[in-house]
Amino acid sequence: MYDYIGRLAAWNHHPTGKRAKGWNSQFRSGLMLLDTSTLVAAATCITGLLGIFLLVVWLQERSVRAMAWWGCAYLIGAAAVAMWGMHSAPTPYLMEIPNALLFVACAMIWNGARLFHGRRVLPSALLAGAWVWFTVCQIEAFAQWANGRIILSSLIIATYTFLASMELRRERRKSLQWIAVGAPVLHGMVFLSPIALTLLWPGEATADGWFAVFALQTLLYVVGTAFVVVVMANERTTAQYKTAAMTDPLTGLFNRRAFFAAATGMISQQMRKKKPVSVLAFDLDHFKSVNDRFGHGVGDDTLRLFAQTASENMRATDVIGRLGGEEFVAILPGNITDAAMVGERVRAAFEKAGLEISGHRIGATVSIGVAEAGPPLAEFGELIGRADAALYRAKHGGRNRVTMDDPSVAAEAPAKAEAAA
Ligand code: GH3
Ligand code: MG
Ligand code: MG
Repeated sequence: MYDYIGRLAAWNHHPTGKRAKGWNSQFRSGLMLLDTSTLVAAATCITGLLGIFLLVVWLQERSVRAMAWWGCAYLIGAAAVAMWGMHSAPTPYLMEIPNALLFVACAMIWNGARLFHGRRVLPSALLAGAWVWFTVCQIEAFAQWANGRIILSSLIIATYTFLASMELRRERRKSLQWIAVGAPVLHGMVFLSPIALTLLWPGEATADGWFAVFALQTLLYVVGTAFVVVVMANERTTAQYKTAAMTDPLTGLFNRRAFFAAATGMISQQMRKKKPVSVLAFDLDHFKSVNDRFGHGVGDDTLRLFAQTASENMRATDVIGRLGGEEFVAILPGNITDAAMVGERVRAAFEKAGLEISGHRIGATVSIGVAEAGPPLAEFGELIGRADAALYRAKHGGRNRVTMDDPSVAAEAPAKAEAAA
């Protein structure tokens, strides 16, 4: 078995079971003092255990389907390595199964990476390596040609690992990019090295000592890759939960908690720069009657339309959130005059967009109160309170209007805002 594993593992075996010349002495005197069969056993166990580990991770977070692909790929890879230890096979054809399985495992790691980045699995590419191998091995001369076998196996594995690394390059997190790309590239390069070796020293050059290098490198690769994919999947899941915890599900805007957190950040930034911040308080007009007349569904559509209109008419630096019901709030860097202009832009845009919603003539409008503070800012709650007071006056003034906190400039607001719009 010892001979067999070494020979098979270097992709040097042939169905007749003849021993490659001189491999044993080369290995013994050769590059590595490590025992090949121990390495194969270790590689099988570690790969298999990692496969189970990845599947357990997937069971805990089923939304990351790529994890199931990677787990199965590891198990298939472990089975392939274990089969290298098979002493004989009933037919020469079956002898090719371990290699074919290994190619499928590599293809599954690549397709798992595709899936992870929202791309689809390519079934034909999944089996292409195994198909090429079986087809070429039909040629008796090739099946007996040790170096040819090494070169083709190396090319197939290297192609899949390079494809996997190309896929993982889509990883946006810089901290993970190096490992995500480096591990498969290194792996591909090591699997390509037998080609150079075979070409440089034909015949004896397929030293089984190299297998020890492959086995060690493969171990590093499987452990490293498992680590990277678990970290990547975990980061993504955490980010999804974080986003869900911060977002209002109906409108996609910040919820109350996320808005206050973002607003606090903006305030301290503006106060450091000795510049003011302004708050806009929005309340949809007669919203209860929209619900009563057209139903809750249309009411929800109206809320979504408002969120969209407000977002489209504010800058990327402005922060907008839904406080609850039909009440929204925004904070922006700048003084009350700028904020009133923004408010007027939103008001006018919503008046236009709200004329007809979901096929109903609704004529939805919004009232807006604006207040400015800082530097220094006494209290954020007090600033919101002043914007709310202005909103109250907008409601009392007839709705569908922007009212500023300072009564002395309130009268100028619409004129200025309209000019700006
Ligand atoms: P005003 O012009 O004075 O603001 O009148 P209004 O009717 O808009 O004010 P009121 O506060 O009386 O009504 C708010 C309504 O918003 C009551 C509630 O049924 C409705 N509402 C709150 N949350 C939601 C929601 O998520 N979806 C829908 N469709 N309606 C909601
Ligand atoms: Mg209200
Ligand atoms: Mg209202």
